[in-house]
Amino acid sequence: MKNYYQKEIETASREDIIRIQEEKLIKQVRHVYDRVPYYRNMMEEKGVEPGDIRGLEDIHRMPFLCKDDLREAYPYGLLGTDLKNCVRIQSTSGTTGKRVIAFYTQKDVDLWEECCARAIVAAGGSDEDVCHVAYGYGLFTGGAGLNGGAHKVGCLTLPMSSGNTDRQIRFMMDMGSTILCCTPSYAAYLGETMAEQQILPEDNKLKAGIFGAEPWTEEMRQSIEKSLGIKAYDIYGLTETSGPGVAFECEEQNGMHINEDHFYAEIVDPDTGEVLPEGSRGELVLTSLDKEAFPLLRYRTRDICILSREECTCGRTHVKMTKPMGRSDDMLIIRGVNVFPSQIEAVLLKEGYSPNYQMEIDRKNNTDTFDVYVEMSELQMSDRISDIQKREKEIEASMRAMLGIGPKIHLVPLKSIARSEGKAVRVVDKRKLHD
Ligand code: ADP
Ligand code: ZN
Repeated sequence: MKNYYQKEIETASREDIIRIQEEKLIKQVRHVYDRVPYYRNMMEEKGVEPGDIRGLEDIHRMPFLCKDDLREAYPYGLLGTDLKNCVRIQSTSGTTGKRVIAFYTQKDVDLWEECCARAIVAAGGSDEDVCHVAYGYGLFTGGAGLNGGAHKVGCLTLPMSSGNTDRQIRFMMDMGSTILCCTPSYAAYLGETMAEQQILPEDNKLKAGIFGAEPWTEEMRQSIEKSLGIKAYDIYGLTETSGPGVAFECEEQNGMHINEDHFYAEIVDPDTGEVLPEGSRGELVLTSLDKEAFPLLRYRTRDICILSREECTCGRTHVKMTKPMGRSDDMLIIRGVNVFPSQIEAVLLKEGYSPNYQMEIDRKNNTDTFDVYVEMSELQMSDRISDIQKREKEIEASMRAMLGIGPKIHLVPLKSIARSEGKAVRVVDKRKLHD
């Protein structure tokens, strides 16, 4: 039997979804024009009035909103309601620069939690489950979002927050956690630590994991699934649009359904802003159709993905996005070549290494240096130096084949790269220090 949290809307016909989106869009445009001077100015600059937006096909007439706008309007400039109607603030983790804060009314919180509840049910969750939330709690949206979603589903919720790995494992084993929610890098670390403690995958009661907040590859999915004995599902979101739950994976584990009743999605060329036809790879642009406190229209997420409307066997009709394999501003240009950290991860996992790596880029004598530190397995650590050097050369060759540029590979002892409890730090770009 197929399970949905909100079956009617999750499996609605295309016509119904479009009708809902159009109604909400027209209302939302009128609302921000009347209520938010920042928007009114932007719309006036672009020569567009609320009456010009009569349907989804007119949305391209609206201006884009960028992270810089949020910084400029900080803190209250984009509020869509009186502050007294707001009940919550959350904030980005500040991965790429200054923090951005978002506001919520009670209705915003409810809708956000419902989106997370859809993700939990899609991963097989029900009120029979023990949902172990090891995303950070506090300003970061991960903990709050999945916690609220788990409550809505009726799970027994363990608000673990991040860190204290031994306690995480103790609770997981004692309480019989069945669903784990955290970043994929922390899930990998939990798997690794449990193996060290001689806890086999079949010893735990986990059946599923809901992992997001950072990019992760298919290879990483397989490695986590094996080490924890679970099915690993992706979840996507950003603070600006509430948090996790904008999109989530279903049993097909092949792209994430975007909650289209709450978000309208477009793909644009990251350089020109031109709207691209369906199936193109480009930057995801999101319009929040319901948000009261922090309504964002045509927000440039900077996340690069592809949208697909192919029919899904799960019965859900909402459009799917591929895993965002890095942000447009994640891309490094090293000696003139475009490099995404996810490409490095894919090569390492394919070659049988762990996903614990760190890239270091520097500039010496006007040339970029490019080093990748990769951890060896316990077994490899007792290898002869010449064998280790041979391995380093092999990885270098695979990277060169994939990227068109060969980093210097350093195989380092197990556990020598710092583990992260939240989002992993994969890139240390020292060139920025010299700018
Ligand atoms: P910050 O920008 O400080 O990291 P957030 O904590 O709001 O702020 O993180 C949102 C960003 O995290 C997204 O824009 C995206 O780049 C990344 N992200 C979230 N979920 C995923 C996911 N499932 N896969 C890849 N990247 C993700
Ligand atoms: Zn599906």
